[in-house]
Amino acid sequence: MDTKIQQNIPLAQYTTLKIGGPADYFIEANSTDELIEILSSTDIKPITVLGNGSNVLISDSGIRGLVIKNNSKDIKILTNTPNTSIKFTKTYTQRQENEPDKYLDFSKIDYDESALPTSKVEISSGYPLPQVINWCLDHGLTGLQWFAYIPGTIAGAIVHNIHGGSYHIADYLESIKCFDLNTKQKKTYNKSDLNWQYEQSFFLQNPNLIVISAILNLFHGDTTKAKSVKDAWIAQKIKVQPMNSPGSAFQNPSLDICQKIWGEQKSAGWIIDHELNLKGFSIGDAQISLQHSNFFVNNGHATATDYKKLIEYVQDKVKTKFGFDLIPEIKFLGKF
Ligand SMILES: Cc1cc2nc3c(=O)[nH]c(=O)nc-3n(C[C@H](O)[C@H](O)[C@H](O)COP(=O)(O)OP(=O)(O)OC[C@H]3O[C@@H](n4cnc5c(N)ncnc54)[C@H](O)[C@@H]3O)c2cc1C
Repeated sequence: MDTKIQQNIPLAQYTTLKIGGPADYFIEANSTDELIEILSSTDIKPITVLGNGSNVLISDSGIRGLVIKNNSKDIKILTNTPNTSIKFTKTYTQRQENEPDKYLDFSKIDYDESALPTSKVEISSGYPLPQVINWCLDHGLTGLQWFAYIPGTIAGAIVHNIHGGSYHIADYLESIKCFDLNTKQKKTYNKSDLNWQYEQSFFLQNPNLIVISAILNLFHGDTTKAKSVKDAWIAQKIKVQPMNSPGSAFQNPSLDICQKIWGEQKSAGWIIDHELNLKGFSIGDAQISLQHSNFFVNNGHATATDYKKLIEYVQDKVKTKFGFDLIPEIKFLGKF
């Protein structure tokens, strides 16, 4: 396996933002077995696993140790007889779409599938979510349509507990298989044993756990309806969510904070746009998008330093004007 490990590989190409210095050591895992083999056999430390790099800002000086680019793409339906006893519950409901006025009215496309029979699907951690959604629809399975246009992998989705409309990926999880870098052992966690929050997961707090695969409960639902939701969602999001970004820069502030200041929930994008008037503001080639004020883009040659400065600039303005901290949704990798 060591022969496949390369040195000093620039990482910008593995992120949607196209920013980031080199990895000391770099290897691609092209299957679940390869991922486990690399994790079990390497002595290089620390280890960082990259999915699609769609939620990270990698430092200009890069990442020390070994970076594994996870391309594992295995998927299988485990239950052929639909199960009627799985109880679908939303794990966490307090969620506001950023700048809701810009989106189609989610309540008009939302519908409840919770009473439908389900099947278990096991998916490897490196599988790109857009392809998983299509694969499932082709195999008669629905539920993931709310996450259309999210360019991450299954692991990235779980680690950040991604949200689409009023749904979180955790809602659909049954269990998650991990590799523990501390013990070098595999371990399986049931979704119900873990605490799930908006943009938070057990895995974000325990970086020694590498997600290998997950089992999801998906519905035997109306695939035509689910496809139309997916298409409508994509058509809308493409207008306001630029791909040369790592997704939303900041989490939306809590309802508590917003109620004290504005008397109602506000999104981070609304605050940046309407309260700070910073739409389009830039530092170097890092810019607050003209399409969406909570998406910060790389216009071509932005450095991680520019990008971090832009984040801190907005945080400073919010702290000075309103006294609270905007929390980044992006994960910072490497030294800043
Ligand atoms: C245009 C655009 C739209 C987006 N829309 C949304 C949205 O609607 N909702 C939403 O929630 N997010 C959204 N995002 C953010 C992002 O796509 C998601 O958070 C995505 O799930 C990240 O997955 P990834 O594979 O790219 O993770 P990466 O960015 O590669 O990694 C993120 C973090 O997870 C860690 N990680 C990766 N793989 C593993 C693993 N196997 N085990 C353990 N840790 C791992 C990484 O080390 C890193 O810390 C959007 C991003 C973009 C660019």
